[in-house]
Amino acid sequence: MTPEAFSQAVLSWFDQHGRHQLPWQFNKTPYRVWISEIMLQQTQVATVIPFYQRFIQRFADVQQLAAASEDEVLHYWTGLGYYSRARNLHKAAKILLQNYGGEFPATLQEVQSLPGIGRSTAGAILSISRGVWAPILDGNVKRVLCRFHALAGWPGDKKVEQQLWHYAERYTPQQRVGDYSQAMMDLGATLCTRSKPSCLLCPLQTHCQGLAEGQPSQYPHPKPRKTLPQRHTKMLMLLNERGEVLLEKRPPSGIWGGLWSFPEAPDQSSLEQWLQAWQVEQQQCWPRLSHTFSHFQLHIEPWLWRGLSVRQSMEGRQQLWYNLQAPPQLGLAAPVKALLARLEEELA
Ligand code: SF4
Repeated sequence: MTPEAFSQAVLSWFDQHGRHQLPWQFNKTPYRVWISEIMLQQTQVATVIPFYQRFIQRFADVQQLAAASEDEVLHYWTGLGYYSRARNLHKAAKILLQNYGGEFPATLQEVQSLPGIGRSTAGAILSISRGVWAPILDGNVKRVLCRFHALAGWPGDKKVEQQLWHYAERYTPQQRVGDYSQAMMDLGATLCTRSKPSCLLCPLQTHCQGLAEGQPSQYPHPKPRKTLPQRHTKMLMLLNERGEVLLEKRPPSGIWGGLWSFPEAPDQSSLEQWLQAWQVEQQQCWPRLSHTFSHFQLHIEPWLWRGLSVRQSMEGRQQLWYNLQAPPQLGLAAPVKALLARLEEELA
C-alpha cells in the first residue's frame, strides 16, 4: 500500500466515521489542543471530557493557567491521575508567558522543549491547530501501525519505537495533516481497539499484515513482565475536636508530588512513636486500600485518630486542618480523596 493510498483511506474513513464533536475539536487553538492531548495521555476520552470542560472554563488560556497557583491547578486535575502532567502544564504555561508572550512557538523543536511535551504531543499540537506537517505516535497510532505491519517487539523498546516513527513519517500526508492526526487517533480508539479490533470496518483491512496473520490483537507485543515491588504504608487520618482532618503537602517530586495527603507512618514502630507523642483518645484501623503505580504497588492501612487538639501539628511540615464541610481547593491523591469522602460519610 503506498503512503498516499494509506493516508487517503484513513482520511476518507475519518470524513464519514471519525469523531467530529469532541470539545477540543472546536476552536482548535494550540492551547486547547495541548490541554486535551496532555489529558488524553493514559486516559480515555469519556473520562477526559468533563475534566477538560472544567479546566478550560477555569483556565481559558496560557495567561490564566500561568497566573494560577499550583494548588489550584492540581485541584482541577484531582481524579485524573499522573499528576506530573498537571505540574508540567503549569510550568510550561509560565515559560510560554515569559519567553513567547503567551503564544505557542511555531517549530516542533521549540514546542518539544516545553516541560511534559514529547515529540508526539508536539506533533499533535502543531498539526491539529496549525496544519504543520508533524507526525504523531501516541498509543493508538502505535497500535494501528504495529498491527498493520505485524511489527514484533514491545513499542517501548528503542528499536521498535524508531521503526514506528519511520512508519509514522512515511504515512503522514502533506495535505490535511491535522485531520490525518485526528483520524489515526480515532481509528485506534474506535476500530483498532486493544482487545477486539473491528477489522471488517477498517479502511486498512486489505493490506493489514496483522489481520492477514489471523491474530491482529497479539500486536503490539506487551512489555516483558516484571513483578511489581510491593510497598506498605499507614496513613494517619488525624481528626481534631472541630471535625477537621490534618493534611500535609507532599514534596514537589516523587509520588503524588505537590498534592495534599495524610501524614504517614511507614512501619509499626513509627506508628507507635506517633501514638505516644500525640496521646490520642480513640483510634481505629480501617480496611486496607491498594493503589497501583507504574513501578510499584502501594498498600495503605488507614488509621483514624480522633480527639486531637487543633493546635497540634508537626514542625517543619506544610500542613493544614482540612474542613470536610467546606473543603478548600487542593490537589488530592486518589486514595486520600476516597478516604476523605468516607470520613465525611462517617461523620455525617
Ligand atoms: S485491519 Fe484490524 S488490526 Fe489491521 S489496522 Fe485495521 S482494525 Fe487494526
